[in-house]
Amino acid sequence: MQREGEKDNPPHVFAISLRVTNSTYTGAVALTGIYVGSAVVLAACSAAAGYAYLAPACGAFLPLVSRGRTKGVALTFDDGPTPPGTERVLEILAHYRVPAAFFVIGANAARWPDLVRRMHTEGHLICNHTYDHVPTGALRPPSFWRGQLARTDAVVESIIGRRPAFFRPPLGHKSPWMARPIRERGLVTVAWSRRGLDGIATTPERITRRLVPHARDGDILLLHDGREPSSSRDPTPTIEALPKVIEGIRARGLSFVRLDALLGREGYLAAATPTGETATSSA
Ligand SMILES: [Zn+2]
Repeated sequence: MQREGEKDNPPHVFAISLRVTNSTYTGAVALTGIYVGSAVVLAACSAAAGYAYLAPACGAFLPLVSRGRTKGVALTFDDGPTPPGTERVLEILAHYRVPAAFFVIGANAARWPDLVRRMHTEGHLICNHTYDHVPTGALRPPSFWRGQLARTDAVVESIIGRRPAFFRPPLGHKSPWMARPIRERGLVTVAWSRRGLDGIATTPERITRRLVPHARDGDILLLHDGREPSSSRDPTPTIEALPKVIEGIRARGLSFVRLDALLGREGYLAAATPTGETATSSA
């Protein structure tokens, strides 16, 4: 005896329908799995790429150093030269007899060559921090990087007669596109192990707190003496913090050494030979 509804939905049709439904369900689950899996992989790749781009000590895109292996702590300053910040920093370093490394912006060096000359004659190291300090420069092609590195080297060399061996990308951002131009010029990329975060609005107390309490041998400290051409950064917190940082580091039993000594590498390169190869010379 047929019950109502069985005529319209005989058992084999129901079974086929169920199979189709099952198959569709299985397919949907599989597709969802693929989508979710792809999204997870993409997210992981994006996170890894972001980390390699931003993290100062991550050398996934290009080889770099972020701390030394010898005794001592190296002070490094970025974005100069720019009066009056650079002048005040130089006065304080001279007072405490601390050698430092200045990662100069080429455009600033061209505008204030006397300050670069003064850094050099007072025993500090001059390093390459690009010509224009473009914040999104890491995304630009190798041709951009060849120009930025060569122009900055040329300006520094025209002022002090030495060619920098060390390079630091703006904001520490790295990408695969800058790796080959850096290698071609024989530059070593130097990041940092501690930073005062004084490139943004802050206080002398915060800067000191970020650099001093956990400092240890091999540290490369990052501060800013100057400012990017388009920025109006106030150097006052850095100037007020610097004596406290120097005294605080020394009170921890640590001594200051110049970056090239901390890294055990030459701070300047010889001029290019006719074959385009470079050779190191004494700092
Ligand atoms: Zn910078």
